Amino acid sequence: MAPPKAGLLSLNTATTRGRWGLAQAIEGCARHGIRGISPWRDLLHVMGVKQAARAIRAHALTVTGLCRGGMFPARDARTRKANIADNLRAIDEAQALGAQCLVLVVGGLPEGSKDIAGARAQVKDGIATILPQAKAAGIPLAIEPLHPMYAADRACVNTLSQALDLCDALDPKKTGALGVAVDVYHVWWDPQLEAQIRRAGKRRLLAYHICDWLVPTTDLLLDRGMMGDGVVDLKRIRGWMTRAGYRGLHEVEIFSANNWWTRDPDEVLATCKARHRWMS
Ligand code: ZN
Repeated sequence: MAPPKAGLLSLNTATTRGRWGLAQAIEGCARHGIRGISPWRDLLHVMGVKQAARAIRAHALTVTGLCRGGMFPARDARTRKANIADNLRAIDEAQALGAQCLVLVVGGLPEGSKDIAGARAQVKDGIATILPQAKAAGIPLAIEPLHPMYAADRACVNTLSQALDLCDALDPKKTGALGVAVDVYHVWWDPQLEAQIRRAGKRRLLAYHICDWLVPTTDLLLDRGMMGDGVVDLKRIRGWMTRAGYRGLHEVEIFSANNWWTRDPDEVLATCKARHRWMS
């Protein structure tokens, strides 16, 4: 298997969160020869969408995704409607940036609810509602299944199989408008992972997020590892992605409050590049 090219790396701005705003992250990518970037919307709003789009174009960066839309389920119709409106804004922003997809973290249980099947039905309705505008804007929607530990508060879609069932139901013709974001942190443990990556295929594999799973993990959200520091077989999973037809960038996304976020972001980016080379 050929090694991944250094040029295949993309920076998800979660990796330098707290230290760098979006403008600094864009410049950091350019400085380190990283070709791709995936901004989070809070940083995008601080910088301004137009300014961000201009800076990204100036450095010829590929926007591998916009993080994030989703969060569909809610207790009442008014909040669900507001959530839809926010997703439509996210589609506009993704279009302004020329993003390859809008990542959907679909949301968990509405407050006070124990009805996870109901929440999943709301997710399906929500995606169906925004899909026509996403199609019209040319922004594919990438459903990101999250590790089951987040089922209550972040995402009630927890496996690639579940995400692909949604894709099959809402986009049976595989138009390319709906697919998945494969984040190794969330799906590495799944016995069906290889089969489901194959099932997704080129049309549905819209994004690939990399980091590592540390043992022990000390925080459910903010203790992701740098590639190579944990137990994820990154080389094997990359091979599955490649064989299934994925040709996009590899987006490094590391939430790490007590380690990588405390370091100089230039050191973090240099480490990301070195570890990404190691993944060959
Ligand atoms: Zn991710």
